[in-house]
Order: sequence, then C-alpha cells, then structure tokens
Amino acid sequence: MSKKIWLSSPHMGGTEQKYVQEAFDTNWVAPLGPNVNAFEQGLENYLGEDTYVAALSSGTAAIHLALVLLGVSQGDEVLCQSFTFSASANPIVYQGATPVFIDSELETWNLCPEQLEIAILDRLKKGKKPKAIIAVHLYGMPYNVTKIHELGLKYEIPIIEDSAEALGSKVGTKKCGAFGDYSILSFNGNKIITSSGGGALVTNGSVEKEKAIFLATQARDNAPHYEHSAIGYNYRMSNIVAGVGRGQLEVLEDRVLARRNNYNYYKDQVENNDFLFLSEPDNYFSNRWLTCILTPSFEIREKIRLSLEKKNIESRPLWKPMHMQPIFKGCDSFKNGNSENLFNIGLCLPSGSNLTENELERIVGVLNSF
Ligand SMILES: *Cc1c(COP(=O)(O)O)cnc(C)c1O
Repeated sequence: MSKKIWLSSPHMGGTEQKYVQEAFDTNWVAPLGPNVNAFEQGLENYLGEDTYVAALSSGTAAIHLALVLLGVSQGDEVLCQSFTFSASANPIVYQGATPVFIDSELETWNLCPEQLEIAILDRLKKGKKPKAIIAVHLYGMPYNVTKIHELGLKYEIPIIEDSAEALGSKVGTKKCGAFGDYSILSFNGNKIITSSGGGALVTNGSVEKEKAIFLATQARDNAPHYEHSAIGYNYRMSNIVAGVGRGQLEVLEDRVLARRNNYNYYKDQVENNDFLFLSEPDNYFSNRWLTCILTPSFEIREKIRLSLEKKNIESRPLWKPMHMQPIFKGCDSFKNGNSENLFNIGLCLPSGSNLTENELERIVGVLNSF
C-alpha cells in the first residue's frame, strides 16, 4: 500500500521547538508567558488595521467569547452562515441563544447577502432584532465583505468574522481576520498554521481585548483573594502552545504560497472539464486552505471519493450545511438551495502545504481516470 495522503496535515517550519524549549528553560509552563505575548504581537503586526489579539485555547472559545462580549444571551437570535463547520454555530447554543441559518451565494460559497437581508427584515418584522451575524470565509475564500458589512452597518447588527480557515487571505490589501467587529482565528492541527490546537479573538480595541482576557482567565476581579462579579472561562492559550504558534507564524506566507500552488496544480492538471473549481472574485485573494472540486453529481462525487480512498488518499465531501444537521433541525433557516447542492456534489482534495510533487501526481492520476 502506498503511503497515506492526508487532507491537511501539520507542517512545522523549524523554529517551533526552539520557542517551546525556551518556555521550559525559563519555566514559563503556564497559560501565560513570553510566547503568548509574542504570538499575539506577531498576529497584531500581521493583521494590521488596528487589530488587538487575545490568544485562546481554540477558535470555538473565541467565537464563544465574542458572543459573550456582544451580550448574546438566553432567547436571543444570531444569524449564522449555514454552510460551515459546526463550531461556527455551537457557541450560540452555549449562550442559550438560537441560531438562524442563512444559505450561501455561488460566487464565494459564503453568506448570501440577499438571503441575509431577507432574514434580517423578517426578524425585524417579527420585532426580534438579531443580536449578531456570524460570517465565515470557508476554505479560505473571503465572503462578500463589502455587501455583508454594508448590511451589518445598515441594520446595526455586529458581525463576528469566522476567519478560522482564512489566515493569509485578503480582500484588496485588508487581511481576513481584520474585518469583523470581532474576528476569530483557529490554529487547530488541520489549519493553514497550527499551534497543535488553539485560537484567537481579534478585537478593534485594547479595552475589548482586555475584557476578553479577563473572561478567558476566570473573570477574577482586582483583589488579593479570589473575587468574582462575572462568570469566567478557562480559555487562555498556554505558553507551550503559543511557542508552536510563534514558530508557525514565521512561515505563514510560505504555507499560503504552497496551498495556492496546490490549487493551481490541480486546476492545470485535471483534464476533465466537468470538474469545476472556485475562482477568486476580482480583488479577492484566498489562502486556498483546501482545494475543492464540484463534480457533475452526487454519484460521481462518491465514485471519485471511494477511488481515492482505495489508493489510500483522504478526501472529504464539502461541509454539510447546519440547516441539514439533526441537532439543528428545529432552527429556522433562509435557503436558496446552494449549500445543499455544494454539499451533494463537492469534494475537498488533499491540500497540505507539505504535499510532494509525487503525491500530487498520484491524486491527479486518480482524478484523470474519470
Ligand atoms: C476550525 C474551525 C473552527 C473552530 O476552530 P477550533 O480551533 O477547532 O475550535 C470554527 N470555524 C470554522 C469555519 C473552522 O473551520
């Protein structure tokens, strides 16, 4: 059997162990320390645009804290992109609030501006203004930031930008992770850079950053004993984990280039014109976290997936929309059929930045046998 090809595996740059070793050498083996500070600083420098970053234990924790900071609570509604990973939506339920799911547009596969506005107007008519909008840059492709943020401003609803898959992506010169009222990043093992597991909340001000860190470290008031006037969380990133993240941040641009090269390789080498790739709208720059193809039908998609599996190559259907998930079946949704169709016919191809030429040839060999 030839060696397994993974969908998206970790790819160390070389300096990660140095930072981890420093943490041991100085005994900063705790959820704070020089690596945490330097990682946050590095991300703030990278994102620019007056961003403030709080390093956390996961991207999911970051979404949860964004909702807490926005005051989302019991009985509130939050509008959420349906075509996404469940971690975008689960924290809404942690807060006792209710997600309302919005379908996708075909240009970016992300939040559809028309459906979003229909949903907002419907909710306003019912006298129930949504507390927040969660918009996602899926697979690294930025959502329609112009139209979505116009709607956010028009109806005065804050936007949580889920940039878990899009570190390194841009619209114009502005980086994904810098668009939202709150933005979140993930450094899980399969993301474009990894800290082995971790995330970050990006805010527009230092006050919000401090509030996030306060909540993420058990909400301890200023007193010699343990005094609490708010419910806290244990969501801070460890200094060991931040050491890995710090090393990875140094190679981010290389990782983006490698993933974009994968996309271009597939696009050039796949012969069958029935397989469609998602192109970048003008001015959009995707980190191409995962390269996906759309096939002519569910049956063909499954044939390809199983043929790849037989050759020890991992691939995966696109995200199953949240409005189709059993756990969310009671939730309202605003649909146009796009995300359901993408789920039925789409396939994510191996996209790691450490794929070899030989591995890419093996994958394309299978694709070209159709
Ligand atoms: C990975 C991911 C998350 C969650 O990040 P974690 O760090 O794994 O908690 C949230 N949203 C999207 C779209 C993701 O892909």
